[in-house]
Amino acid sequence: MNGLPGVVKTDEKIGRYLEANRDIKQGEIIITEEALMVGPSGDPHPFKICLGCCRVVIGEPVYCGTCKWPMCSEACEKIALHAKFECRVFKNAGVKPTNDPQDYHNINILRCLMLKEANMKKYETLMKLESGGGDKKKKVVAPKEVAEFILKKCNQKSYDNELLGKMSGIVAINSFATTDRLSLSIAPRMAALLFYNASMMSHDCVPNTSWIRVENPDNTFSIKVWATVPIKSGQLITTQYLDVTRSQIERRAHLQETYNFACSCKRCSDPTELGTFYGAVKCTKCPKGKGYMLSEDPMKASDANWKCNACGNSAPYRECAVPIETNIVEEIRAAADEVELERILDKHADITLHPNHWLMMDCRQEIVKRLFNSIATIKEVPRRVERAQKMLEYCRALHKVTEAFYPGNNRIKARSNLYVQYAEALTKGEGEEVDKELDRIEEVIRKGEEMNLFES
Ligand SMILES: [Zn+2]
Ligand SMILES: [Zn+2]
Ligand SMILES: [Zn+2]
Ligand SMILES: [Zn+2]
Repeated sequence: MNGLPGVVKTDEKIGRYLEANRDIKQGEIIITEEALMVGPSGDPHPFKICLGCCRVVIGEPVYCGTCKWPMCSEACEKIALHAKFECRVFKNAGVKPTNDPQDYHNINILRCLMLKEANMKKYETLMKLESGGGDKKKKVVAPKEVAEFILKKCNQKSYDNELLGKMSGIVAINSFATTDRLSLSIAPRMAALLFYNASMMSHDCVPNTSWIRVENPDNTFSIKVWATVPIKSGQLITTQYLDVTRSQIERRAHLQETYNFACSCKRCSDPTELGTFYGAVKCTKCPKGKGYMLSEDPMKASDANWKCNACGNSAPYRECAVPIETNIVEEIRAAADEVELERILDKHADITLHPNHWLMMDCRQEIVKRLFNSIATIKEVPRRVERAQKMLEYCRALHKVTEAFYPGNNRIKARSNLYVQYAEALTKGEGEEVDKELDRIEEVIRKGEEMNLFES
C-alpha cells in the first residue's frame, strides 16, 4: 500500500476498509493505479456492447472476424483484452453472440480467470480481493449461470467450481462501473473495472471521494481517486458502491444483498436523509397537510413504523408509503413523454410526496435529459424560453439534492451545475451571446464526456 495516505483495516460489520492515517486535503489525489482487469458491464441494459472498447454499439455493428461477436469497429477486434481473451475461446467453442447482460458479466469473469496465463502478477493481486464469502468454512459455489457459461458454453472445463465462485464474487463486489444516470453521450462506455487499492475503500451513501476512469493510449485504463472534502486522520476514506440517488431502503437492500453489510452511514441513519426528506411522503391525517411521514427506525428498513413529523400520526411503512410509491413508479413507467412526466410531477410533488422525494427527482432527471436533447430545436423563441424556465427549475431542484449527497469537489455535482448553467442561458431567449454561451456549455459537457470526466 505504498504511497497511500491510509491503512487497510478490517471490521466485522463492514469488512475491509481504508482509514486515513494523516489529514488529507480537499482535492488531493489519494489513489492512482492501473486496472487489473477491464470488461463489459453486466448491468442490465438492452444494448450490444463492443468487446474491444466496451462502448455501446450504435447502429450496424462490425462483426469480429474471428469470433463473430458484435464490435463497433475493426480496430476494436484487435484490442488485446478481446483478441487474447474470450475471442479465441469463443471461436474454438463456437459461442454465439447474445445481448444478455449476464453473458457480458460472464465474459468479465472469464477474462479474470484467463489473466492467470496473461499476467500472473496481476492475477495474484486480483485474487487477494474480497469475494464476499464471509464464512470461510463454507464452500464457495459458483452461480449456476456462470458455471454453465464457462464450463459448458465456453468448454473451459479446467476451472473448478470453487474458483469460479470466488471469481464471480470478486467481479460482483469489486467492479467500478457506471454511477451517473444523466448520461448523454452518444455511445456510452459500459465497462466494469477492477482495481486493488481503490477496492479497499468502504461504502458511504455520502462518499468523501470521487473518481474518474482514465483511458491510457495503449487501451488500458487507470483510476484516479481524490478527496472531495477534507478528510481527517482516523476517518474512513469512502466511495459509493451504488448509485446513491436510489432510495434509502433500496440502497440498503442492495448493499446487504450484494456486499453483505447493513449500511449505517450518517445518511442512512437519519430519517430525513440529511434534511433532504428524500423518502418522505405526505401525512394524510394532518389537518393542513403540513406533515411528512418519516421512518421511526431507518435501520429496520421496510419493517419500520413511520411517524408524521407534525401531528404524530403513525403507520407501518408498508401502509403509508408503499402503496403511493408503487402507484407513482407505475405512472412514471407508463409515461410516454416529458409532458406526461411533468403532469406526474405536478400531481405529486408537495401533494402526496415531499418535493425532494426520490421519485420526484427521478421524474425531474428524466425530463431534464429529454429537454437537453430537444430544447435547442424548438424554433419559436417564447416557447423555448418557457421550456427553459421549466428546465431551470428542475435542474436547480436536482442540483440542491446533488449538493447534499455529493459535497465538495465532486464530478457529479460539477456536471449537475453545468445543466443549471445551460438552462439559465436558454432562458435568455435568442441572440449571438446566448448562442455562444450555449455552445460553450455544450462543448464542456461533450468534451467532458470524451475526456471521461463524466464518463458513464
Ligand atoms: Zn469498440
Ligand atoms: Zn473476437
Ligand atoms: Zn448508507
Ligand atoms: Zn400528520
